[in-house]
Amino acid sequence: MKVLLTGGAGFIGSHTCVEFLERGWEVVVADNFSNSKPEVLNRIKIITGKSFTFYEADVTQRSALDKIFTEQKIDAVVHFAGYKAVGESVAKPLMYYRNNLDSTITLLEAMETHGVKNLVFSSSATVYGENNPSPYKEDMPLSTCTNPYGWTKLMSEQIMRDAANADSNMSVVLLRYFNPIGAHPSGLIGEDPEGIPNNLFPYVAKVAGGKLPKLGIFGDDYPTEDGTGVRDYIHVVDLAKGHAAALEYAVSHKGIEAVNLGSGKGHSVMEVVTTFSRVNNIPVPYDIKPRRAGDLPSYYANAEKAKTLLNWEVELTLEDMCRDMWKWQTQNPDGY
Ligand code: UDP
Repeated sequence: MKVLLTGGAGFIGSHTCVEFLERGWEVVVADNFSNSKPEVLNRIKIITGKSFTFYEADVTQRSALDKIFTEQKIDAVVHFAGYKAVGESVAKPLMYYRNNLDSTITLLEAMETHGVKNLVFSSSATVYGENNPSPYKEDMPLSTCTNPYGWTKLMSEQIMRDAANADSNMSVVLLRYFNPIGAHPSGLIGEDPEGIPNNLFPYVAKVAGGKLPKLGIFGDDYPTEDGTGVRDYIHVVDLAKGHAAALEYAVSHKGIEAVNLGSGKGHSVMEVVTTFSRVNNIPVPYDIKPRRAGDLPSYYANAEKAKTLLNWEVELTLEDMCRDMWKWQTQNPDGY
């Protein structure tokens, strides 16, 4: 099987690339390094000892996709490429809609022209919006996203759903990620955010590594067990395996399915901080700060559909996430 990974040099794309190569699948990566570094490609080769084809390409450009589909006999696509910073999407909504929707539509058009029928999409639990109760289940109604980034995911899902409904040979799996964190256990690849991280785990790792003075915990008065926000964290290696399971499903079925990739279990910010400190034997100084605008108190997945449909479930724990995150941070204190 030959698989095109758009955005395959990114955090989740690179871990998925490793997983696919280790399964003996042929991989073609397309990435324009808008939020990734060329060095990641070398690291993937070091981990797997395998080679793959790389195109420096912007997937909003139809000519770039035509070139790839003409030169490579692609069986399936995993579409990761997209902007993903929630705060930035609020400040620059048009940039987010232009990039994330253009890439989705251009990719679907190119797939149609070149007869490629199998697609797995990087969606997000953010599509459940603010009105659904946890645990989130795939058949819940979707409507009110809280930011433009979320809307681009919801709109991309809808575009893919309509495209799949119009072509009975298409197969699409929409993967709704919860909070992907951790790093490959080799410490060679991991998340490398530009500047000061927005997300909890990269921030904790930078504080532990002395790159930032203190973590701000955004709110300790939520209606949760310890008052801090609760999320469903998932190890990025488990997530990569979820993509392999989704792809296997896609190539042997027709139609469209949305599937949560989460553990089904929530952890609080305080639990993350204390677990990180304990597992890695390193202090993580913090201050309690006001709540962050737009944050939900708590959400986590119902992970049953992934189990029954894809035969996939998480294997790694919060301890594993903390240990692997710290290994990545200590081996690469300034990223790639
Ligand atoms: N969070 C925090 N301090 C930070 C970053 C995040 O307390 O510097 C909290 C945030 O309020 C939320 C949780 O950590 O409860 C996860 O936030 P993240 O941004 O990683 O993911 P998301 O909000 O997208 O689920």
